[in-house]
Amino acid sequence: MKDSNFLKENNARYFWHPMAHPADSQKNPPTILSGGEGVSIVDVDGHRALDAVGGLWNVNLGYSCEPVKQAIADQLNALPYYSTFRGTSNDKAIELSYELAQFFEPDGLTRAFFTSGGSDSVEIALKMARQYHKIRGEAGRSKFISLKQGYHGTHFAAASVNGNQKFRAAYEPMLPGCFHVPAPWTYRNPFDETDPERLAQLCVKALEAEIAFQGANTVAAFIMEPVLGAGGVIPPHHSFMPMVREVCSKHGILLISDEIITAFGRTGSESGARHWGVKPDIMTTAKAITNGYFPFGATLISGAVAEVFETDTTGLASVDQGYTYSGHPVGAAAALAALSEINRLRVWENAAACGDELFSGLQKLTEKYDVIGDVRGGEGLMCALELVSDRKTKAPIAKHLPLQVQKTAYEDGVMVRVSGNNIILSPPLVITSEDVAKILSALDTGLASL
Ligand code: PLP
Repeated sequence: MKDSNFLKENNARYFWHPMAHPADSQKNPPTILSGGEGVSIVDVDGHRALDAVGGLWNVNLGYSCEPVKQAIADQLNALPYYSTFRGTSNDKAIELSYELAQFFEPDGLTRAFFTSGGSDSVEIALKMARQYHKIRGEAGRSKFISLKQGYHGTHFAAASVNGNQKFRAAYEPMLPGCFHVPAPWTYRNPFDETDPERLAQLCVKALEAEIAFQGANTVAAFIMEPVLGAGGVIPPHHSFMPMVREVCSKHGILLISDEIITAFGRTGSESGARHWGVKPDIMTTAKAITNGYFPFGATLISGAVAEVFETDTTGLASVDQGYTYSGHPVGAAAALAALSEINRLRVWENAAACGDELFSGLQKLTEKYDVIGDVRGGEGLMCALELVSDRKTKAPIAKHLPLQVQKTAYEDGVMVRVSGNNIILSPPLVITSEDVAKILSALDTGLASL
């Protein structure tokens, strides 16, 4: 490895980071990592920290998942690449589509379209929704509705359904025909409603009003995260997604459950939709599907939607899109091994138990630090602390202060993530109660430094 000064200097000079101003790495040098073991990461100066970020919501099985590493190595030796475009397939991608259909059978999802990551999965889902309606003779259904604060990725269509201006403003105009409705965010919402159940009802009413305004027969799909993740971990009241399902079904609108974060156990259930007792029409997955070790994703399709494509006689159902890396044999092998580990360990159960411990520990911190305006979580291992300068006005804390919490916690041996005025926690799903205690103690140290 090059020495750490070389790495720091050249990172600032040559490397453009995603989600950052190009000059930022000069002003705020990133932590440069060179190792990972168990649930910890190691930087180029040899400092070790428990990774309470889980990579980027994806390293759910930690950094030492030998079966996934071995599967990747074996597959590189067997067949390192071949396309799955019409005419060729590969053994691992076929086996994976079978295993995914078993895993998501209770969600009613029977077919898999493979992608290279989350944004790709969302892009395919949105296109598929339009195509589904065209095949059925409803070509007028082209619009998409999504939640404010929702995050669905980087590509133009995915970013067009994003509900945060931050990810759109520099790239406007976005795809036409994308509309956004209020999210059931109890801490901040346009209705000033603090009761989660009543808020869920108001948000569903707002969705119905938007559908009526647009004309139901012009709407192709509603896309939502079962728990909003990148928007600041916003779990809805349990009644929200079932009500959304009902509204979508009533109006012939497809429900896309964007589970790039929530599929495979993070919410404490095998999928986010199942967590809320809902069957989506399409589900998008990526991230933890390979434990983050290989860029890969899958858009999963319900039996009913698949049937419309499969029984089409008009010729409209040809899926004239695909990625060079769709069904990549190494990605598929990694996913097969990860899925086998996810099932063997039943990681969703640990996510639920450790998630409860983490959430209640964070609630205790709220009693100690006025700077915590809101603590969110309680649905598995995804939590957030929202930091404010004044609890009454809810004014966000000065920008540099969450970074100070992060820096101090890191020095104390725990990596947390900062997003705006939120501290986000999404550790691997294989952490222990001891790890939870360590996360809470490092956060305590970080908050005490303010
Ligand atoms: N959808 C959701 C819900 C996400 O959280 C993300 C990424 O965090 C994406 C889509 C985009 O995935 P990717 O970054 O792999 O393209």
